[in-house]
Amino acid sequence: MPLPWRTARLVGRADETATARTLVLDAPGWPGHLAGQHVDIRLTADDGYQAARSYSLGAPADGTRLELGVEPVTGGEVSPYLADDLPVGASVEVRGPLGNWFVWRPEQEEPVLLVAGGSGVVPLMAMVRAHRQAASTSAFQLIHSVRGEADLWYREELGRPDPALDVRFLYTRKAPPGSTRPAGRLTAADLEPALKRLTPAGTVYVCGPTGFVETAADLLTSAGQDPATIRTERFG
Ligand SMILES: Cc1cc2nc3c(=O)[nH]c(=O)nc-3n(C[C@H](O)[C@H](O)[C@H](O)COP(=O)(O)OP(=O)(O)OC[C@H]3O[C@@H](n4cnc5c(N)ncnc54)[C@H](O)[C@@H]3O)c2cc1C
Repeated sequence: MPLPWRTARLVGRADETATARTLVLDAPGWPGHLAGQHVDIRLTADDGYQAARSYSLGAPADGTRLELGVEPVTGGEVSPYLADDLPVGASVEVRGPLGNWFVWRPEQEEPVLLVAGGSGVVPLMAMVRAHRQAASTSAFQLIHSVRGEADLWYREELGRPDPALDVRFLYTRKAPPGSTRPAGRLTAADLEPALKRLTPAGTVYVCGPTGFVETAADLLTSAGQDPATIRTERFG
């Protein structure tokens, strides 16, 4: 049976970068979700026109509270409105949770490598938070590729010391002063140290724009990572 649409209210909005926003929704009757899952959001205009898009959940289940991370796409129908125009207190429709494969469960004990391109960090952040919430000691590594320092999401939270989490930022356009890695897209050399620390049974989660996900998946399999251990989510 298809999941029902529920009415949810926007109860908070915060800046992640100059353009990206975290949105907090209150969705009465929400059944709960796993880290990595997403929802469909549906907007209805005054003339009845409807548009629906998928957005990942950025935090583990917490009652009726849902956290999304939206990067507005220039000229996009839904994302610029959600990011900046939907008033706090207004309602949208939400359907979910969706996606049962791109998930991390607290009972997973194997080491994990998370590879994010831009806003692809949103569902991976839910996994990082779920891992911390569960006090899991399984090794977590996050590689987050962004254009420059100004495009880093969750900067303060990811900067906090966490013995079970290793975070590495890659800059594609402009590296901060003093960086040993020149700015550039993800390469095999960026993945090599992380893969060395991931035992063969480790799981890799890759999320971001389609081109980024395909490149990362190719680099991982070329490096010998078993394709069965690689889970991907494409944002389009
Ligand atoms: C499973 C899943 C989870 C997702 N999670 C998130 C999330 O957590 N945060 C988030 O910001 N987005 C996420 N997306 C992308 C989101 O669903 C929308 O596609 C995106 O917000 C653009 O919608 P729009 O209506 O603004 O643009 P549209 O009006 O649909 O498209 C406008 C133009 O932008 C291009 N375009 C569409 N999507 C993208 C994109 N993602 N990047 C670059 N160009 C694009 C289109 O080809 C078109 O030319 C997710 C997508 C999927 C499938």
